[in-house]
Amino acid sequence: MQPLVQLRDVWVLRLSHRAQRDARVTTHVALVARAFGARGMYYSGDRDPGLEESVEKVCRTWGGDFKVAYVENPVRFVREWRRRGPVVHLTMYGIGIDEKAEELRSLEGPMLVVVGSEKVPRVYYDLATYNIAIGHQPHSEVAAIAIFLDRLYMGRELSLRFDDAMLEIVPCERGKLVRRRSRSANS
Ligand code: SAM
Repeated sequence: MQPLVQLRDVWVLRLSHRAQRDARVTTHVALVARAFGARGMYYSGDRDPGLEESVEKVCRTWGGDFKVAYVENPVRFVREWRRRGPVVHLTMYGIGIDEKAEELRSLEGPMLVVVGSEKVPRVYYDLATYNIAIGHQPHSEVAAIAIFLDRLYMGRELSLRFDDAMLEIVPCERGKLVRRRSRSANS
């Protein structure tokens, strides 16, 4: 199924997931990545089937083909990605997004956007094609991903719709209006 906004070939890597501590935040990284136009999220650290299942459940209901996959060796993964496309590490120590947004939008090849959880090892700063800051204050990987994707899509991601969604929101001034769509009508 094709989303109505053309998705870029952009993927997220969430480093060092801790199943106990980070379940909610990593789920939010995935949900924001999906909603704002990434194709999938890789994650390293603790393998977490519950995380994968909860994101897959959202996709079954709200549509799209967002992938979640575990990565055993993230350093090797990033190194190998560099041969195919750019790696953008989001860090408050990097170059401000506004300085690089145009260049980032013009890049070719699959883009990997890396976010940390705990302290990010130095090797990622060295391996990244770009170290990009979303402002130079410490905040959150969820906010960083949201704003990065928004700059990449220049706001168009907010119109993202998925043809194969089971549920679709009908915007309204007050209350909640949700339309159920039949799968067969969309296929
Ligand atoms: N203290 C950690 C470090 O030194 O890497 C950062 C922890 S922060 C809670 C988790 C992640 O959020 C970071 O690894 C980074 O990817 C992202 N992040 C937080 N603030 C950011 C900022 N201002 N710009 C870009 N990314 C940011």
